[in-house]
Amino acid sequence: MTVTVRFAPSPTGFLHIGNARPALINWLFALRREGRFILRYDDTDKERSTDEFASAIAEDLGWLGIAPHESFRQSDRLPLYDAAAEKLKAAGLLYPCYETSDELERRRARARALGRPPVYDRAALKLRDEERARLEAEGRRPHWRFLLPNHDGDPFVTRRVERSWDDLCRGAQSIDLASLSDPVLVREDGSYLYTLPSIVDDIAAGVTHVIRGEDHVANTGVQIAIFEALDAVPPVFGHHNLLTTVSGEGLSKRKGALSLRSLREEGFEPMAVASLAVLTGTSHAVEPAESLHQLSEVFDLADVSRSSAKFDPQELRPLNAKLVHSLPYADVAERLSGLGIAETHPGGEAFWLAVRENCETVADAARWWRAVTSPQPLPVAEDDAAFLREAAELLPPEPYDETTWGAWTGALKERTGRKGRGLFLPLRKALTGEEHGPDMKALLPLIGQRNSAARLS
Ligand code: GLU
Repeated sequence: MTVTVRFAPSPTGFLHIGNARPALINWLFALRREGRFILRYDDTDKERSTDEFASAIAEDLGWLGIAPHESFRQSDRLPLYDAAAEKLKAAGLLYPCYETSDELERRRARARALGRPPVYDRAALKLRDEERARLEAEGRRPHWRFLLPNHDGDPFVTRRVERSWDDLCRGAQSIDLASLSDPVLVREDGSYLYTLPSIVDDIAAGVTHVIRGEDHVANTGVQIAIFEALDAVPPVFGHHNLLTTVSGEGLSKRKGALSLRSLREEGFEPMAVASLAVLTGTSHAVEPAESLHQLSEVFDLADVSRSSAKFDPQELRPLNAKLVHSLPYADVAERLSGLGIAETHPGGEAFWLAVRENCETVADAARWWRAVTSPQPLPVAEDDAAFLREAAELLPPEPYDETTWGAWTGALKERTGRKGRGLFLPLRKALTGEEHGPDMKALLPLIGQRNSAARLS
């Protein structure tokens, strides 16, 4: 069977690094197994879901390198959910309840006070037809609960019934269905909570592996029971740890914290973001992978640690720098020309190779481009002025190559007796307007003889 996974965000905000984790983990899982990846928009919350967020999600996934094989919206599939709800109702497994949330809260408080677990007592199952009719006549609308299979025919006599699964991240897991309240699947207004649509879609799309954050572990036992009630074989489950901020708080997309957009705008490479999002909180050292393919070969769900994973944006800079230092010209050429870095003699490639190790982001190249093409002159120390004049006199004629700098400064050293910093720093400052930077050996040919002469005098 083709491995099929899905990533199911609600289009109610921009994706942040915490959402990138399940998206990427699913993608890598499918990539390694030549499987399929479905993007499902959980947009049944009409108030908060927007088309803009939906397209931003697709765009941000694309930036990361994720290209879903299929995508769909839950809001287009309501008839499927209605059919599943009808099937459950017909089997007596979805029953109407009329309690208000205040009533339910009072009951839970009472149960707790008596030292009992605050599990719903299925009182609504005892309602007779005329009682239901009276409540409806009063204007009450039912919400609908799924009858958990934790009894032997009499729902008021529950017994321990385990649902177990071998979690891809957490190993053997088990939950006693008698410890849970029958879950509400349909609200008073007829809208669906996340549970039933998600299961119906997973069945229809042939999802073989549900991989998601550990905030969903508690739902899994119930979901397995519903898969079974719909005559489907439950998928394999895996629950990875969640990313938190350094101080341990959850990352909320509503706060816009660390959105993929803002990281992209700050100039981070998708592979730096992806490597950190995936490898944080695993047994692997966080090293930048060159491609998702490479990451898929390194990462395994069993490597995810059980405790939460603290995401430190400070780690992103060095990781990004490491990647940028070895990016080939072909990968950045388009972006460089977008930064106004033109293909000039002796070529954009030579420029990139000269400066990349001094860049934390590709955009930093613009600074070095300015340094090479139009540096801001730095004040020249008085006793350097004469030295620079001599340097101008000794400047060799073109063509320039990687040996020109050594030959020139060698001759200058001989003539002036200067060496080390005293020899090199005034030249660097005059030629680039910077005190530090890329190897002058590579920069001098880019600056050329005419510009160098002008800057030295
Ligand atoms: N929309 C759900 C969420 O974002 C999906 C959960 C799941 O993967 O089952 O939490």
